[in-house]
Amino acid sequence: MIVESSDKNSSRCRCPGCPTHDDCMKKDDERLYCSRGQTDCDPSGHGCLCSDCPVWAENRLGGRYFCIEGVAR
Ligand code: SF4
Ligand code: SF4
Repeated sequence: MIVESSDKNSSRCRCPGCPTHDDCMKKDDERLYCSRGQTDCDPSGHGCLCSDCPVWAENRLGGRYFCIEGVAR
């Protein structure tokens, strides 16, 4: 399922509150990795909040860690 890169989805994305979302990722307010693809930063993967996210549920996404793994497929 292709996730829409919309303001609505961006505002509901849980990434900014995630322990993996480090200072590098916060610098440009990165989020919505399930739609926009992986980060150029080098996150260490200290947990993922995607499965608690309404965008994740609505789009029936199966994976997590999209900031590392890339867009949802
Ligand atoms: S994709 Fe998952 S691990 Fe990465 S910042 Fe978002 S919630 Fe955290
Ligand atoms: S599923 Fe993960 S990357 Fe996608 S909007 Fe939700 S928290 Fe953000």
